[in-house]
Amino acid sequence: MPEPYTMRTFLRKLKKVFSGGDDISPAPVPDETIISDQIYNNYSFIIGSLFNYFNELPENEKRRFITRVHYFKESKKFHYIGLEHNEDTAILVSASAVQVTFGLKNYLLSHFKDIYILADAYRMDDDEELYIGHVAPDGIYLSWKHFLYGYSNKSDNINVAVHEMSHALLYNNFFAQYGIDSHFRLNYERFSSSTGPILADVITKRRSYLRSYAFSNLHEFWAVSVEAFFENPAGLKDNMSELYDALCKVLNQDPLTPNKILKSEPC
Ligand SMILES: [Zn+2]
Repeated sequence: MPEPYTMRTFLRKLKKVFSGGDDISPAPVPDETIISDQIYNNYSFIIGSLFNYFNELPENEKRRFITRVHYFKESKKFHYIGLEHNEDTAILVSASAVQVTFGLKNYLLSHFKDIYILADAYRMDDDEELYIGHVAPDGIYLSWKHFLYGYSNKSDNINVAVHEMSHALLYNNFFAQYGIDSHFRLNYERFSSSTGPILADVITKRRSYLRSYAFSNLHEFWAVSVEAFFENPAGLKDNMSELYDALCKVLNQDPLTPNKILKSEPC
């Protein structure tokens, strides 16, 4: 996600083909796997300090959430640029991925082996623009300063980690060769079909509940919609109920319900 939110060379970078690779991806670790109380208590404390989403979960779902965060984190290599290696940071970034994929069976985003955490907004190559996060074939990139901002401000519908994890989820399912979630793929098509009427509405009214960056292209529409979905679910439901329902379906969760998850075994 560039800062400011203009596109230009960003699109060109996103169009790079995801090559896949030959190695075999790990299968997601089953949710019923037992993690130690020490891990559970440590992760609960760290995640609970920032994620309202996690704090709202019932006890059994908290355990499932943390199991996923632990194995997501273990499956990635974290790189720290301009800030010190910190296990808590890796846990929190992993938690943002698990939040987005919590309703899905395949949650590891297996295509992406590397996550790069930068201290602040950054430039890429010879690009003049400042970025606060982006997804490329070689990894997921996030500005730590903006990550924290995303989870501290609850009313602006901006959360760079949720935004980039949404891009990563889409690419993992449509461009990568493994870690595909069949539920997501099937239902994303339905989500796509809801964009036509929404675009027509925006053109007619010349405004939208979603910030204008959503209308840069379909990938950004997806990522900005998911941000709004988690940042202020009630606001999105009130203003764009069809979009809200389509997101519930494709992510198999409804953040306004206590359990979040809709079907325990999504088809
Ligand atoms: Zn984006």
